[in-house]
Amino acid sequence: MNFLEERIVKDGVVKPGNVLKVDTFLNHQMDIELIDQMGAEFKKRFGDAPITKILTIEASGIGIACLVARHFHVPVVFAKKSKSINLDGEMYVAEVESFTHKCKNQIIVSKKVLSSEDHVLIIDDFLANGCALQGLLSIVAESGASVEGIGIAIEKGFQPGGRMIRNLGYHLESLAIVDGMNDETGEILFRPQEA
Ligand code: 5GP
Repeated sequence: MNFLEERIVKDGVVKPGNVLKVDTFLNHQMDIELIDQMGAEFKKRFGDAPITKILTIEASGIGIACLVARHFHVPVVFAKKSKSINLDGEMYVAEVESFTHKCKNQIIVSKKVLSSEDHVLIIDDFLANGCALQGLLSIVAESGASVEGIGIAIEKGFQPGGRMIRNLGYHLESLAIVDGMNDETGEILFRPQEA
C-alpha cells in the first residue's frame, strides 16, 4: 500500500451510497504534509510534461491543486461553480453534474487565465463518474490549451469515470484506486499499482 492508501485505511470512512468520507485529512480538515507528499508524487509522474498551469474545480480540489502547484512552480486556476451566469463572452463555460450534491452546475473559467498557449495538468480529489472531469476537459478544449495529464487523489474504480477518461487517451494517474468498499464492514479494496 502507498502512503495515501494507508491513510485512507486508517482514517477514511465508508458511507452508504458508495461515498468515501476523507474529511479528516483531505477535503475538510486537510493534512498539509500528506497533500504535499501527493504533490511530490504527481511531480514524479508528470514531471516530464511542459506544464504551465494546474486546473481544478472548486471547492475541494483547490487545496490539493495548490500544493501540487508548488512542485511544478506554476499557477493554479480553479473553475468556479455558478448557478446563474451573466455570459459576456469573456468566460469558458461547461455544465457539470455533481455526484455528491446531485445537482447541475455550470462551471466557468475566465478567458484571461487560460489560453491556447497553456499546457494543463488537471487535478481533483475524487474521480467517480467523471462528470467533473468532463466539464474541465470541455473548458480546456474550448480554450485551445492542451491537456498534459490528469492527477486524481482517489479514483473509485468501480464507477465508470476512470475507464472513460483512459479510453479517451488521456494520461490519468490516480494515487489510490478503490475497486470496492463495504459500508457495513468498512472494508476498502485497492487496485494493485506499480511501485
Ligand atoms: P464525478 O464527477 O467524477 O462523478 O465526481 C467527482 C466529484 O464528486 C469530486 O470532485 C468529489 O468532490 C465528489 N465525489 C465523488 N465521489 C466522492 C466520494 O466518494 N467521496 C467524496 N468525499 N467526494 C466524492
